[in-house]
Amino acid sequence: METLEYRCPNCNAYLVFDPKSGKMKCDYCLSDFTVDEVKENNDTRGKVHNEGHGHTHSEEQTNGDYFCYSCPSCGGEIIGDSTTAATECPFCENPTVITQRLSGEFKPDYVIPFKITKKEAVSALEKLYGGKKLLPNAFTRDNRVKKVTGMYVPYWICDCEASGTVSYDATRVHTFSSGKYITTRTDFFKVVRRGTVAFDNIPQDGTTKLEGIHTESIEPYDYSEMIPFSNEYLSGYFADIYDVNSEDVLGRVAERAKASVKESFKETVIGYATVSESESNIDITKGDIHYALLPVWMLNTNWNGKTYTFAMNGQTGKVVGDLPVDKKKFWKRTAMFFGIFAAVAAVVAFFI
Ligand SMILES: [Zn+2]
Ligand SMILES: [Zn+2]
Repeated sequence: METLEYRCPNCNAYLVFDPKSGKMKCDYCLSDFTVDEVKENNDTRGKVHNEGHGHTHSEEQTNGDYFCYSCPSCGGEIIGDSTTAATECPFCENPTVITQRLSGEFKPDYVIPFKITKKEAVSALEKLYGGKKLLPNAFTRDNRVKKVTGMYVPYWICDCEASGTVSYDATRVHTFSSGKYITTRTDFFKVVRRGTVAFDNIPQDGTTKLEGIHTESIEPYDYSEMIPFSNEYLSGYFADIYDVNSEDVLGRVAERAKASVKESFKETVIGYATVSESESNIDITKGDIHYALLPVWMLNTNWNGKTYTFAMNGQTGKVVGDLPVDKKKFWKRTAMFFGIFAAVAAVVAFFI
């Protein structure tokens, strides 16, 4: 298994990606280097380093979906499975990037590097459960809260265009009194919205390993900060490659685009007492799809037979369950047609 550790040119300790500075930092001598500097350095030194540690040496074993090899630092056994792309030695925390897993079709197009530090993630978790009397034990016992893990999650980022028509049955109600009668008049309307909405960057996770974590609830990510992928960003974090193909997420992407279009159309049907959708016909045209690794802080912990999951957007700090998903953030442009077709009046009279 081809792996790479990033070493400090000054003291040879490990370099990890630092969310605060956006640079590779040595925690030992506190030097820092840009990703480009480290990349250059590795092109010349990294290979020597790799050979020196014999990354293909005989202690390495691969067994079906799992692999294990000896930590070049402490000799401890590092174990990963078929989708592990970055990990750390469980004994000495030596960060390792499994470069072999990040090549060919599994080389991500983009990455959004971590911006939220582990310290910030831990304090957000403490704050989240601070008000819930029974929960803190689950996280504070054995200091588990400190085990919150920085994980790059594989995502498919899709562009598409949704175009179609939605019809609604709507009513308006007027009440007026004359003499001893109160009359209620209900007007019925057929309301139609037709339009095309172009979506940029609808994200869908490409992994089966996040059961219990609803990645959609820590969205949105800010894709203006998405940059071309480079292995260096993974140093000091965990990362997985995808095990769900892009074709297999398109259904869910289409569903999300449709839901978003319907929501936006419906928001324009205003001024009625009741509105109900009667018919919809929306076509989705597939656009570009990119493979990206997006940052998540997460913690799964068991307590009293229940699993508690914490997840936080590693770029924005948004915590699961904190806010509803803001689907409108995907919007690029919209063009909409407004139509009200038939208005039928009915009169209902009530006798007092
Ligand atoms: Zn150093
Ligand atoms: Zn080790």
